[in-house]
Amino acid sequence: MLIAHKIALNPNNKQKTYFARASGTARFAYNWALAEWNRQYEASIMDQSLPKPSQAALRRQLNAIKHEHFPWMLEVTKNAPQMAIIQLGVAFKNFFQGAAKYPQFRKKGTDDRFTITNDQFQVDGLRIRIPNLGWVRMRETLRFAGKIMSATISRVADRWFVSITVNTQDNSHWPKAENQGAVGVDLGVSVLATLSTGERIIGPKAHNASLCRLKRLSRGLSRKTKGSNNRKKAKAKVARLHANNSNLRKDCLHKLTTDLTRRFDTIGIEDLNVKGMMKNRHLSRAIADMGFYEFRRQLEYKAESRGNQVVVASRWFASSKICSSCKSKLERLPLSVREWICPCCNTLHDRDVNAANNLRHLAVSSTVTVCGEEGSGLVRKIKVKPASMKQKFNTIATYG
Ligand SMILES: [Zn+2]
Repeated sequence: MLIAHKIALNPNNKQKTYFARASGTARFAYNWALAEWNRQYEASIMDQSLPKPSQAALRRQLNAIKHEHFPWMLEVTKNAPQMAIIQLGVAFKNFFQGAAKYPQFRKKGTDDRFTITNDQFQVDGLRIRIPNLGWVRMRETLRFAGKIMSATISRVADRWFVSITVNTQDNSHWPKAENQGAVGVDLGVSVLATLSTGERIIGPKAHNASLCRLKRLSRGLSRKTKGSNNRKKAKAKVARLHANNSNLRKDCLHKLTTDLTRRFDTIGIEDLNVKGMMKNRHLSRAIADMGFYEFRRQLEYKAESRGNQVVVASRWFASSKICSSCKSKLERLPLSVREWICPCCNTLHDRDVNAANNLRHLAVSSTVTVCGEEGSGLVRKIKVKPASMKQKFNTIATYG
């Protein structure tokens, strides 16, 4: 499987300048190719004899004109523009398959990255060698053994990282699962996750905690004159705060998904209609904070590596309303009700623990279903599918 390790870099000033320049070149090539793609597509509609655009053709076209029109491109590795256009091709492929939105232009400051192929760099312990640049220090050594495929160098706030993709057969970095059987996980807004064991994992709520600070900083930013040094400084502060929040969230989710896959061989989760929930303004911030998508992505790839099963309940499975003791179903259960007593069997239920228990039952029952037999129709997906959405190109799993 493809797996990526993201490592912080310690570049010197010359190297930082090079990174910024290579990222700029990659962004320019990507945006140039996207604009050309749009133009050539329009033209091919008007005139059927013209070819439809493709990333391979666009790469050739850029190569043919770059010496004359964009000579500064030659100052950085030729991989930077080439890989950017290949990535555009992947973005279009994902779009055509319905897995992603229409490709957007890359923006300076948010999309500062470039990719190099394995013949263009070399990793040795705590350093990576990049053409025209020499050795750059890394904060840690590469964690995975296997064939190195590519490296993407990117900026997050004011720090540079390298994400090295490795094709590995080696699963030894996954400690053996303890196998405590099955577990149901109910994801929530006030509590990140409730397990059928009764454990509750409170999320970091990073965004909420620093929301005031973020608001104040953004207000300050909007008052600063465009192009001024103070604006630059304020912008860097906002970016750092965002990066910090995102790290807190990711760290919390990684710990949770690692813990779950380490302890349980069968994990039942809900198929949350995240898009529908995001439309609800009050819930949306909390949901975005909790990163439900990210939770499921991490859980699925970690489960796949360890050979666990993730059972995703259908969106229509009423995990909250079913009594996990006697299976009778309530007509309605408002979100505000946190505890309830089953009218049939008089069991007192904690809303979230009950839901987690139902997910656990569903997970267990769906894994013992005889092959070929139709299930209850409540499980949408039993086997874990690797990779999702835009991750297809260079990473499946990313370690921070
Ligand atoms: Zn009951």
